[in-house]
Amino acid sequence: MTAAGPVSSPRRTSSRRCCPISPFATALRRVVNATGVVVHTNLGRAPLSAAAVEALGVVAGTTDVELDLATGRRARRGRSAMAALAAAVPDAGAVHVVNNGAAALALVTCALAAGREIVIARGELVEIGDGFRIPELLESLGARLREVGTTNRVRLADYAAAVGERTAFVLKVHPSNFVVSGFTSSVGVAELATLGVPVVVDIGSGLLAAHPRLPAEPSAASALRAGAHLVTASGDKLLGGPQCGLMLGRADLVEALRRHPFARALRVDKLTLAALEATLTGPPPPVVTALATTPDALLARAEGVAAQLADTVGTVDAVAVPSRAAVGGGGAPEVTLPSAAVSLPAPLAGPLRQDPVHPVMGRVERGRLLLDLIAVPAEDDALLVDAVRRAATRPGPRRDLPGEA
Ligand SMILES: *Cc1c(COP(=O)(O)O)cnc(C)c1O
Repeated sequence: MTAAGPVSSPRRTSSRRCCPISPFATALRRVVNATGVVVHTNLGRAPLSAAAVEALGVVAGTTDVELDLATGRRARRGRSAMAALAAAVPDAGAVHVVNNGAAALALVTCALAAGREIVIARGELVEIGDGFRIPELLESLGARLREVGTTNRVRLADYAAAVGERTAFVLKVHPSNFVVSGFTSSVGVAELATLGVPVVVDIGSGLLAAHPRLPAEPSAASALRAGAHLVTASGDKLLGGPQCGLMLGRADLVEALRRHPFARALRVDKLTLAALEATLTGPPPPVVTALATTPDALLARAEGVAAQLADTVGTVDAVAVPSRAAVGGGGAPEVTLPSAAVSLPAPLAGPLRQDPVHPVMGRVERGRLLLDLIAVPAEDDALLVDAVRRAATRPGPRRDLPGEA
């Protein structure tokens, strides 16, 4: 404990120091994601839909999250969100939701594999990011890993030879943030489902159904249809919802997860449940919209922004250019999304990032600052124009070097 000084209003003092204009009780800032990475982990992954944000307001106070208003009795927590998820993936016998994708894997491991073996291919021992390694998570919870195959190749016979009395399940992890190419082979879910033990598939990105622009991304529906007994996924990647971890699959297994004592430690709050339900039942969330926009539409917007900046007193050197965007969030690393950007002088990167009103995060590429529009909602184009005008006219040192990411 530090001794409290005679500060009359600590919050106001500190917020004034770091962000003079923010009237809010958080020092976190709203940031325009012009990086061209649709799901940017450092920017909070998926932005919520307007419907999800509205739902947060509805449930923020007291709410019937665990109460049946008809009877006045306790009811199943988050039942409408669970029903929405089940309806979105009819191939799942039952569903459950925890705090994130890692928590979903942790719960499956605790409930099904503590003191037992998980059979997993060596090519699927994945590090996600920030040093988070899936094999280390599984081992930390008391499961033993039975690794099969090599880095580049594994066959069904390798799995069959490893499966035995101690096997809890076979785990297939989608190598979501890297691609191994060349002399490779892996075993699909349908083949693994013939082994006679449960098959758990960590699909990572949270696509509930196949996406035409992301042919290599597995979906919950395709994994279940191929015979997976359980699927785990994140809620805040390609699903476009709040941070959460989805579990879908055979009803008896999901019930075992739900009833496990550890499930309580991973329980999601009412805000997550409401935002997830709204994501599933409302209009498409921003991530889904971004993946559906055409490069032509983005280029037209970039030209509009550049033209407005050319009208600025003292003219900003702004041109619309084609760009190549990425899915991000540890998903579909092999996919580039044709996009468009506003190209600006690189020294504007720092001032834009530190804009006092609307911080804008772009990317510097070959000596130019690109503001990629794929992940910027069209209604935010005006914010970009204002922010660039401020950055271009604000006095002060510009410390950015070309090449800064
Ligand atoms: C992202 C990811 C995870 C971790 O999910 P979080 O929601 O970040 O905890 C696990 N497995 C795969 C394959 C992933 O892509």
